[in-house]
Amino acid sequence: MRALRLLEWKSSPEIVEVPEPVPGPGEVVIRVGGAGACHSDLHLMHDFTEGQLPWGPPFTLGHETAGWVHRLGEGVTGLEEGLPVAVHGAWGCGRCARCRLGADNYCEDPAAAPVAGGGGGLGMDGGMAPYLLVPDARHLGPLPDGLDPVRAAPLTDAGLTPYHAIRRSWPKLTPDSTALVIGVGGLGHLAVQILRATTATRIIAVDTRPEALEVARESGADLVLAAAGDPADAVKDATRGRGADVVLDFVGSDATLALAAAAVRSMGDLTIVGIAGGSLAVSFFSQPYEVSIQTTYWGTRTELAEVLELGARGLLTPRIRTFPLAEARAAYDLMSAGELAGRAVVVP
Ligand SMILES: [Zn+2]
Ligand SMILES: [Zn+2]
Repeated sequence: MRALRLLEWKSSPEIVEVPEPVPGPGEVVIRVGGAGACHSDLHLMHDFTEGQLPWGPPFTLGHETAGWVHRLGEGVTGLEEGLPVAVHGAWGCGRCARCRLGADNYCEDPAAAPVAGGGGGLGMDGGMAPYLLVPDARHLGPLPDGLDPVRAAPLTDAGLTPYHAIRRSWPKLTPDSTALVIGVGGLGHLAVQILRATTATRIIAVDTRPEALEVARESGADLVLAAAGDPADAVKDATRGRGADVVLDFVGSDATLALAAAAVRSMGDLTIVGIAGGSLAVSFFSQPYEVSIQTTYWGTRTELAEVLELGARGLLTPRIRTFPLAEARAAYDLMSAGELAGRAVVVP
């Protein structure tokens, strides 16, 4: 079969021929219905070098995948061939306390995982191929009725990651609160929809691109702000000087972190989701009192089931543009140029 593979660090991925996977005991092979192209794949292509991560190329890209159960390995029960499923993409050890909570994304024994700190499309072969080998049936969640694999694929990361970040701040997202979403790309536009679907908070979105602000408005933002100018002042103006109770930074650059710190309200949450690698100096005086600052990474299996439910009920509708496998590289080129609104899904 043909697969889009990263063959070495600091290179563009290539479509090459690889053997079709065969499931061993406990494993499952999925026929891929859709594999989302994530902005973090661009970091994999351009930013890492040998030794920076515990894993490396060659591997097939694609860490947000949904499809149908194709072949079951020996001993797998509870799934049948043809069942539509989404893949929880973080593959931990399965035995530590975090994995047992469904939080393979925070596995505490990565040395015992199939690949330390990675998963399919992250050190192991991912979904940008007709078939995907999943090392354990626990990583698969059945799709609720009404949700097809192409729409489900982006929900497993672009949906799940903001969902987790928002869910942990639910107690602060009261009807008189304000949430600020910084960066309205693949994750950010779904963050706006998730805030709209699961809370009564007022939503403000910031981006540099006018098209992204349009997407934010369509996704349910109450107020959209151009990053040029002084968006922190505009947030203060819109909140009677208080600031935003929850700030979600889907970029994570020096500039967006500075904005986040300037716009957050006392006792608020400042959550860094984007991996641009910027820094925020933290001291007693650098932010309002009792602001909690955290990073989050992906989400749990339980939360994935909740996100899929939102998708099936039409409350979470990723903007999708599909590409055949042969044009997957073009999808990344568009993303790299900032010309892709919403999410690219490769249909192999
Ligand atoms: Zn991703
Ligand atoms: Zn673990």
